[in-house]
Amino acid sequence: MIIIMKHGATRGEIDNIVARVEQMGCQVHLSEGEERTIVGIIGNGRPIDGEQFSRMSGVERAVPVLRPFKLASRDFHPQDSVFPINGVSIGGQQIIMMAGPCAVESREQLMSAAHSVKEAGAHVIRGGAFKPRTSPYSFQGLGHEGLKLLAEARQATGLPVITEVMAPEQVPLVTTYADILQVGARSMQNYALLHAVGESQRPVMLKRGMMSTIEELLMSAEYILSHGNNRVILCERGIRTFEPYTRNTLDLSAVPLLKQLSHLPVVVDPSHGTGRWELVAPMAMAAVAAGADGLIIEVHPSPETAMSDGAQSLKPARFAELMVSLRSIAKAVGRTI
Ligand code: PEP
Ligand code: MN
Repeated sequence: MIIIMKHGATRGEIDNIVARVEQMGCQVHLSEGEERTIVGIIGNGRPIDGEQFSRMSGVERAVPVLRPFKLASRDFHPQDSVFPINGVSIGGQQIIMMAGPCAVESREQLMSAAHSVKEAGAHVIRGGAFKPRTSPYSFQGLGHEGLKLLAEARQATGLPVITEVMAPEQVPLVTTYADILQVGARSMQNYALLHAVGESQRPVMLKRGMMSTIEELLMSAEYILSHGNNRVILCERGIRTFEPYTRNTLDLSAVPLLKQLSHLPVVVDPSHGTGRWELVAPMAMAAVAAGADGLIIEVHPSPETAMSDGAQSLKPARFAELMVSLRSIAKAVGRTI
């Protein structure tokens, strides 16, 4: 349930509502906008009688929230969530570009990728140190060593880094090195991991599971938010369909839909979404046109020799060209990169 306060409701009136909600054993989520204040109520399982609130002073109306996600919903928080990540701000007017290799392979490879994406105008460096691979015989990532290299890349470029965390027990270690924690598609419903990143102090980018619905994605975001971390970024990275010509089917309708349902920033990953480098630029441009708040793109200095995801990785020069095209699309939709 949300209680929409009248224009100019006083502090005392708001406090009275909050006190009543707490008396009922429910949780309060306050959203104080420029226009008006919204008091969100997260129930304790028992039905809530909205009538009692409608009669209280300063209240315009009480509206039941029927969707299962609350903290993630736009009803609870009508304004877009905008938050800073080490010098860049996500969810606002600027579109945030995250780029780098699928996996950190060596110092030379990462530094080369990091400098080239920075040169092209990227805002965040991506690179996996712990890699969730389909085969146990594939390269699993450099682990702790990879995290140290990411920290070196941050030091060298001044850009924040995003990297995946695969297990709750890795959260303290990854948090030491990363500016943004990535929860991968395969981990979207690892509730112990969602709990752990929810208690961390880092922003989290939550990738949509390849077989997950939009509601399931938002419920996973709700786990992170309900453990106290309100810096959650949603990521559409393609879902599995019957189509074998692409690795996944990039669901771009998820972008405007998520923006409608939720206040959280939405990032698109056209690399995993298509699996083919030639499709990355067109889908990246379409994602910006559809209203994405950011993109995450795999860039490798030599995709032919990449230890993972070479087929979907852009060469640095192509990434730089893409950045130029994206700037004009961004301008056309009233944004900047
Ligand atoms: C990745 O970003 O490197 C990755 C493994 O992506 P996903 O979890 O979307 O498959
Ligand atoms: Mn990858």
